[in-house]
Amino acid sequence: MFRPESGRPDGKTVRRRALLLSVMAGLCASCVIAAAVSGSFVCYAVSCDGEIVGTVSSRTELDAAIEEADAVAAVILGEDHPVIDTVAVTATLSSSSGNADELTGAILDNLEGIVHVPVLTVDGVPVAAMDSEESINAVLDGLLARFTRENTISARFIQKIGIETTYVGPDMLRTGAELAEMLDPENQDSPCRLTVVTEETAESLVTVPYDTQIIYDENAYSDERTIISEGQNGRRLDVTVTVCENGLAVTSCLSRSVTVRAPVDEVVSVGALPGSRTDSKGTYIWPTTGKISSGFGSRAIKVGSSNHKGIDIANDVGTDVWAADGGVVIAAKTGDNGGYGNMIKIRHDNGCVTLYAHLSSILVSEGDRVAQGDLIAEMGRSGNVTGPHLHFEIRPNGSTAVNPTKYLSGKPDRE
Ligand SMILES: [Zn+2]
Repeated sequence: MFRPESGRPDGKTVRRRALLLSVMAGLCASCVIAAAVSGSFVCYAVSCDGEIVGTVSSRTELDAAIEEADAVAAVILGEDHPVIDTVAVTATLSSSSGNADELTGAILDNLEGIVHVPVLTVDGVPVAAMDSEESINAVLDGLLARFTRENTISARFIQKIGIETTYVGPDMLRTGAELAEMLDPENQDSPCRLTVVTEETAESLVTVPYDTQIIYDENAYSDERTIISEGQNGRRLDVTVTVCENGLAVTSCLSRSVTVRAPVDEVVSVGALPGSRTDSKGTYIWPTTGKISSGFGSRAIKVGSSNHKGIDIANDVGTDVWAADGGVVIAAKTGDNGGYGNMIKIRHDNGCVTLYAHLSSILVSEGDRVAQGDLIAEMGRSGNVTGPHLHFEIRPNGSTAVNPTKYLSGKPDRE
């Protein structure tokens, strides 16, 4: 039962005891005897407005009931409305009687200016009353609903909310609209405004990048990199929970992650040899296949130079032409070029230059780095020729051509 904290002045206790003594004096001994014989007994009846509202069998209970009712009423109505002024106590015969608590409730129920209703407490402090607990809950639910969205997983008030049916003054009563306004989280003017805490979930698909596994190839250079198997990114579903106060995010954390698809590693082969694949080896391979149709040096011919600065290797138009050694392409020219036709020059790391002439197509560009054996062109008949062949020169110091066969081992007949 709601027990107000304030006490009562001693003067009222004195007044009530005086009244009770007079009631006691009215109980005659014959009545007590008659009651004992009939099965009834004497008890104290408390009346409000001439109507008995309750009985108790002992003086102690009567005293306690009135004292309790007085204490509650003093808080609600003030000290100048003692209960004893509005009730009458008489002696009566009865076969049954109530207890002190029941009598307190009965007295308070009959006091004007006091109602027994559900009271909303916020953090233990009574805030307002309504005619039913359902009405209060409807207001509270309405406030929570205002901040509840499709992805809301929980909604509550940050304050401790309680509903207790107790005695209060009618001025505590509110309509639903009034209570809603008092508690409105966005009503800055209300000291009773509540704070709604919600938890919202959000899902997002996240790309999980694949890892790369490297396998070292002892026979390849460090700049040689070959993808053995392609990597594939994975997919992950992240579920995030965000805590909001009155709809505004306060904190957020990852609540769980579900792998939708695991990533697949990329496997890459990387050369273990120091240097580059395009580094010059200082050795020269035959740049194409075919038959040597003209050697180096002086010759008697109808077309071209009589002092032949290279060798001619004859084959079909379109036959592969390879870099004799690694290096950088310093010329990749189409046109006549002084009878060379379409031609390529490669400078090797030791300063030596190789030259490839009469090409039908050029597959590299000036500035490219090429490795020994790289396909650089196709054999043709451009420039000053009588038939398709590759004119190939080696210039060890970069300018003076020498007999290439001194640098090439084996024969060009690979087929
Ligand atoms: Zn030639």
